[in-house]
Amino acid sequence: MSDSLLIRQVRVVAEDSPLSAEVDVLVEGGVIRSVAVDLPVPEGAKVVEGRGRLLMPAMFDAHVHFREPGFEAKEDIASGTEAAINGGITGVVMMPNTSPAIDSATVVKAVLDKAKAVARIPVYTSGCITKGRGGKELAAIDGMRALGVRMLTDDGDGVGDPAVLYRAMQYAGEFGMFFASHCEVHELAGPRALNEGPMSYRLGIKGSPACAEEIMIDRDIRLAHATGAHIHIQHVSSRLGMETIRWWKERGDVRVTAEVAPHHLMFRDEDIGNYDTHYKMNPPLRTAEDNVALLEGLKSGVFDLLATDHAPHTPFEKAQDFTSAPNGITGLDTALVSMFDRFIARGEFGWDQLVKRYSAEPRRLMGLDPVPVVEGGFAEFLLFDPEASTTFTAEFMKSKSRNTPFLDQTLRGRIDLVVRGVEILLER
Ligand SMILES: [Zn+2]
Repeated sequence: MSDSLLIRQVRVVAEDSPLSAEVDVLVEGGVIRSVAVDLPVPEGAKVVEGRGRLLMPAMFDAHVHFREPGFEAKEDIASGTEAAINGGITGVVMMPNTSPAIDSATVVKAVLDKAKAVARIPVYTSGCITKGRGGKELAAIDGMRALGVRMLTDDGDGVGDPAVLYRAMQYAGEFGMFFASHCEVHELAGPRALNEGPMSYRLGIKGSPACAEEIMIDRDIRLAHATGAHIHIQHVSSRLGMETIRWWKERGDVRVTAEVAPHHLMFRDEDIGNYDTHYKMNPPLRTAEDNVALLEGLKSGVFDLLATDHAPHTPFEKAQDFTSAPNGITGLDTALVSMFDRFIARGEFGWDQLVKRYSAEPRRLMGLDPVPVVEGGFAEFLLFDPEASTTFTAEFMKSKSRNTPFLDQTLRGRIDLVVRGVEILLER
């Protein structure tokens, strides 16, 4: 862009505070120079009329599957990061269940080098806890740490053997690394196609009971309590899972954080209807009662952050029968607009909550600074029009995959501009 950008008469969103009055925001050389009323237009500046729109910190997603290396037909780092930008997200953390798994310095380096070459936003990767996500031997944790990996996870599976996780926590906790747990007792979860309950009985498919997740949430926090490690609980899907985390947080003697995914707040097992594989994910969608409890957990801060668990699969794979189709739903293109449509526009929570949970807290989890729209701050923001709408056509979406119930749906809200430093990443 030209050296300066002036966004006029826009309202600014910040965590923990109400919307600002209309102000002008001036960016020069990638830094927010001034936030004030009636700023003069600098010579040669690009001017954006912001009236009626909202300016807020760009989002950050701490749980994405980019499928590279190994499954690039579903997604790769280039397409995944473009889907993120399309959704107002300017930083992501990749999960390591690729092929080969991201379980050594060699694979971490290959992934980060690729990201540097193709991505327009920073890409972070987690690393495996165990070699090949096999659950038996510890991965080459020290080598990954040396390349900046902070999050360790076998996401896609829990670590079955508590002694393995206990050892990993004793070892890596000392290096300031933390553990992200996909909680699922394998023996209980079975083929993990959907929640066990009236819907699984009706469809005649063996369900995965919520206790398969809840038991491991409690176990993993207990292990963190014993070792002093920091545990982050991923994609919590049930009321009792949320309440278990709340109970441990109230004790105050263990470092526990947790995330919830937009789809677990919005959808339930009944949405599967006639075996619609777009609603097949792991942990599975549970019940309306769980939706209510999870939303309460988000508002009350039991959940520190929102993360999509963006999990692309090809149309061919998702067109299989319900039991055979893979688990997962895409989320990066749709997350922000869908959360506006479903929650903010309906008065469930405010923009300050969304910015806190989907921009500031995920960055803090990764040891990064939040990116508030304030004078002197790095310019990393998006412009949102609450009066416009977005239709999620196949052409609109930048992910290689289309496995989302929002395909071809029109939702309220539109992301009009995404800026990072001196770069305009997106402008509609
Ligand atoms: Zn997972």
